[in-house]
Amino acid sequence: MSAAPSQDARADWDKICCPICAGTSFEHLFEKAGEPFVRCLECRLTLINPRPPFSAIRAGYDAGYSAIYTKKAAKKLRRARRRVHRLRRKFVAGSRWLDVGCSAGFVVRAAQDAGFDAHGVDIENAAITYGQETLGLNQLKVGLLHEQAYPAGHFHVLSAYDVIEHVPDLNAFVAELKRILHPDGVIDLGTPDIGHWRVPRALATWPEFKPSEHLYYFDRTTLARLMNNNGLRIERVRLALKPGLKVLLRHL
Ligand SMILES: [Zn+2]
Repeated sequence: MSAAPSQDARADWDKICCPICAGTSFEHLFEKAGEPFVRCLECRLTLINPRPPFSAIRAGYDAGYSAIYTKKAAKKLRRARRRVHRLRRKFVAGSRWLDVGCSAGFVVRAAQDAGFDAHGVDIENAAITYGQETLGLNQLKVGLLHEQAYPAGHFHVLSAYDVIEHVPDLNAFVAELKRILHPDGVIDLGTPDIGHWRVPRALATWPEFKPSEHLYYFDRTTLARLMNNNGLRIERVRLALKPGLKVLLRHL
């Protein structure tokens, strides 16, 4: 998407109410690749609105995306092991873990090696194939989370790293996380943090603004409100030296 689309080209775009406060008044911030970045005047959530339809966005998750991701496989696996290590002491061996938006499945591999019954789901077929063939994983599914119809209360650990900002229907996604989370389970979630002190003052220059990809930009307040609206609470926020929100969630 190089040239900015005309108003006509936006005729089939989705214009949404604020998914956190249902507000309909937005402040225009800037445009990037023809997509308008706006901020909700009530709750301050930043988002792309209106935006291309999800069918167009989904088509963008092609093999090129995972090729970028799998290039640094060894580094990704080391980071995955650190993430799993932080959580493993809270759970007994055999506890069920689902990595949502697992891409090639590095977190699934690390969780399995740490004794979890580890599963993954991602919309990108090429990444799942890589995980199955190269990482030897047989519990990866292709598709959207809600399409898997996991049993209620099934998973002791849900992880979603750099996923929630991509999801078209935020409330449906968070409600599904809550539904499949075990009563004593945790959700480990990471997303860019627009409220972080290292986000550039010239906001539009922040590289995390990605048209069609990153649809929402949370800070601690907006993320907490979204979670509370859906029956979850932030138990802990980890210190992040780069502009990322890293939170542990539980049932309210
Ligand atoms: Zn709002």
